[in-house]
Amino acid sequence: QLSKRLMAVAARIPAQAVMADIGSDHAYLPCYAINKGLAVKAIAGEVADGPLQAAEQQVKAAGLEGEIDVRKGNGLEVISAGEVDCVTIAGMGGTLITSILNEGKEKLEGVKRLVLQPNLRADHIRKWLIENDWELIDEVIMEEDGKIYEILTAEKGDAEKPYSTRKELKLLTGPMLLAEKNEAFLKKWKREADQLEVVLKNLEKAGNQQAAKEKKQSVLRELQLIKEAISSEE
Ligand code: SAM
Repeated sequence: QLSKRLMAVAARIPAQAVMADIGSDHAYLPCYAINKGLAVKAIAGEVADGPLQAAEQQVKAAGLEGEIDVRKGNGLEVISAGEVDCVTIAGMGGTLITSILNEGKEKLEGVKRLVLQPNLRADHIRKWLIENDWELIDEVIMEEDGKIYEILTAEKGDAEKPYSTRKELKLLTGPMLLAEKNEAFLKKWKREADQLEVVLKNLEKAGNQQAAKEKKQSVLRELQLIKEAISSEE
């Protein structure tokens, strides 16, 4: 049984997709996508030997060697331009996902949809999407086993469209997630606010060096935005 998190990623793969799952580990996602008829062909990319072997074994055990190609490599280097129409990257930090996208930009030609599931720092991905003309078309936030996950789906388009007002706040929290403010969203941002309060206290102890002052300013700004996000007023 696939995790609720990966099931939600799978639900965003377009019909009949040729997909690449980067950082696939056990290749659970491509196996599920092929078995459920969501994708017709998949590439499972992995940079590390252990997960690569796990992916190979899983694909073999599922009898899907004809449909799923397991490839070793860093990020998008496992695909060639025009080869796939959907890229999924799940279960990593937003900063790593962003650097994978950035380093493999030329491989994204022909890709129609990105489905990205950062564990942390989804805001880095939102910024990258804007800078690279990918329009956020869907966002989900959910909790599973005490952890909170976000799933961002983007297609080529008008990248600025979701950010016509309150851009800084929406980049941080997600324009669609902010509009919805579900339970997982409120829990995540209350947790983040608590952590930032601790950071702030420690910075206050650190005294008045320039670096600490600057960090304090940015933490205060983020706290202000979070308070805005979790307040009940629109
Ligand atoms: N995508 C799966 C999921 O969501 O359950 C696995 C997530 S696992 C925590 C992250 C995987 O990404 C690891 O297997 C790691 O080896 C792989 N990975 C990390 N950086 C990578 C990169 N630059 N290129 C390809 N794979 C990478």
